[in-house]
Amino acid sequence: MAKLKLEDIKQELIKSSWLLLSNSYDNLDTELEMQCPDGHRVFMSLRAWRRKKLCPVCDKNKFKKMVNTSAQPKEHKNHKRTLSLDASTNLTGWAIFDNDKLIGYGKISATKKTTTEKIAVINEWLMSMIDQWDPDVIVIEDIQQQVNHKTFKLLARLQGVLLNTIYINDIKEFLITSSAWRSGIGVRGRTREEMKKAAQAKVFEWYEIKVGDDEADAICMGRHLIVNQLKTDFYSWDV
Ligand SMILES: [Zn+2]
Repeated sequence: MAKLKLEDIKQELIKSSWLLLSNSYDNLDTELEMQCPDGHRVFMSLRAWRRKKLCPVCDKNKFKKMVNTSAQPKEHKNHKRTLSLDASTNLTGWAIFDNDKLIGYGKISATKKTTTEKIAVINEWLMSMIDQWDPDVIVIEDIQQQVNHKTFKLLARLQGVLLNTIYINDIKEFLITSSAWRSGIGVRGRTREEMKKAAQAKVFEWYEIKVGDDEADAICMGRHLIVNQLKTDFYSWDV
């Protein structure tokens, strides 16, 4: 077999979003300098990398393991648990905090055909989340009048259903507009696209995790509520 060229290794790494930083290569056991998808320096041989693409820094990041995690009990019974939802009929991002600590996040999609079916699925999902995680607070992104009247109406239907579920479960509800949480935690941008990217960048700055924009919005909004709005009068911070 012909010897691998640096360029071949570069290509192989790039396919997994890794970068090769070394300028020389001898054989499969040569220690190479690489960069993981999150930008950490990693030193390992190509043979080891092929076996397991492991970055030791990423591997120790507990936040990475929280994606779509299952419910766990609170560390302390006096902690307040907050579920944050960036709800839409297609993709809903969520995040869970115990006091101000992120303990889980993820997204769900409703793959049903009609709007009524989609809303029903998201509502059933919310009921399961309440049952499993037992949140004290649920925060939903408030809807705002927008150019597309049809979308606004649809989101209003969804919000009404979710608020009712929160109400009958006797959970404290909060509605926050996207402009409020964005300015609260310093997410800026001229376009919707730029603001989505800025929220993802914030999440990366805090937790070193790369998440989709729905999850990023849910994490940012939850953090805004807890840190900026509720901190003093609601949470038992001394436990
Ligand atoms: Zn890494």
